[in-house]
Amino acid sequence: MSLLTVNHLNVKFKQRHGDLDALMDVSFSLSRGERLAIVGESGAGKSILGYSLVNLLSKPGYIDSGSIKFHGRELTSLSSKQWQEVRGKKIAMIFQDPMITLNPVLTVGDQMVEAIRSHTRIGYGDAKKLAIEKLSHVRISAPSQRFDQYPHELSGGMRQRVIIAIVLLLNPEIIIADEPTTALDVTIQAEILQLLKQICEEYGVALIIITHDFGVVSRIAERTAVMYAGRIVEQGPTLEIINDPQHPYTQGLLNALPQMALPGQRLNQIQGNMPSLSEHPTGCAFHPRCPYATEKCRAQAPGFVYSGVSTVACYVIEDMLAEFEALDSNEP
Ligand code: SF4
Ligand code: MG
Repeated sequence: MSLLTVNHLNVKFKQRHGDLDALMDVSFSLSRGERLAIVGESGAGKSILGYSLVNLLSKPGYIDSGSIKFHGRELTSLSSKQWQEVRGKKIAMIFQDPMITLNPVLTVGDQMVEAIRSHTRIGYGDAKKLAIEKLSHVRISAPSQRFDQYPHELSGGMRQRVIIAIVLLLNPEIIIADEPTTALDVTIQAEILQLLKQICEEYGVALIIITHDFGVVSRIAERTAVMYAGRIVEQGPTLEIINDPQHPYTQGLLNALPQMALPGQRLNQIQGNMPSLSEHPTGCAFHPRCPYATEKCRAQAPGFVYSGVSTVACYVIEDMLAEFEALDSNEP
């Protein structure tokens, strides 16, 4: 059984003149210990998806329909009290800014001990021992010293390590990390990604990493879902998607990567911008930016097909598969 199964999830934002679609028909699943990336430009709905999974969607956002199952148990109908048993303990979230989670007026150690003792009945001494052990697991230098420091005394990278250590205290089965390295410089970013990967492997934790950066995706995720304007438009194994992207939006994102350009070549940025919630185009929402768009694309959103590489929502792929099938059936 899959660990997490999201099916036909629709999230809306309440508005006086008709609610806006924030997530549409989002479906994916996550297995135990698997690392999945949700990638797309800002405004694609990635964070909204992350928040929806842990019931942290703030008003006016709400889950309109669809299902989120964890070990087969429906999460969308849990009460706030039931959520206390799931959020943090089973599914934890890490944010771009560690200071969202860290309390600036408490030492790292006090916060860790408090987190431990709010869930288990162990004495201060044992809790402290456990906290220092987790700090050394996240490869923090001088863990006993860090235990007594305040968050502002630590670097950004170290704070993110502390967050990972805190998250690990409760042994979650899934970590959702929303742009966890975006605020860090490139070297530290690589270290934190490597750490997250190692930690997930050591502890058997599944990871959903939310990012706008395919460089991050390629370093850490086994599977990738590409989001555009509130929908997943392509999903499959990361390596195959990077080597042979099927959806024109995925192709555009990859072409815009500095690593993909030859020396002296200009980067191929995708023309135009991600539409805002209130301006989602009809049909395939990517059509105003897509070099292959036709009338059909403007009229109706494509369904999903399996291309042989990934599951993708695009008429170009759908038509190509139909042609192959016709050729096949015409063969004597
Ligand atoms: Fe482009 Fe049409 Fe495919 Fe959308 S469905 S990505 S507009 S070709
Ligand atoms: Mg975001």
